[in-house]
Amino acid sequence: MDKLPDQSWKKEKNFYIRVLASEECYCDREKKHGYAFCYGCYSSLPPEIQKALYQLVGKGFEDAYEAAVKWLD
Ligand SMILES: [Zn+2]
Repeated sequence: MDKLPDQSWKKEKNFYIRVLASEECYCDREKKHGYAFCYGCYSSLPPEIQKALYQLVGKGFEDAYEAAVKWLD
């Protein structure tokens, strides 16, 4: 992730900001604006990933989200 050129980093960051702003979860169910996942997905995640999802975009949220998606897959 460190070696991405600036433009792709911005795109990535916008992607995660949109994820948080959206009201649709990764699983297509409804979720709350500002949350990464719906309650069902979130509660099935291991506690360390749940905790990591409280980080801000640009401060670790990206990695937490990717780990969560891998876990839910
Ligand atoms: Zn979900």
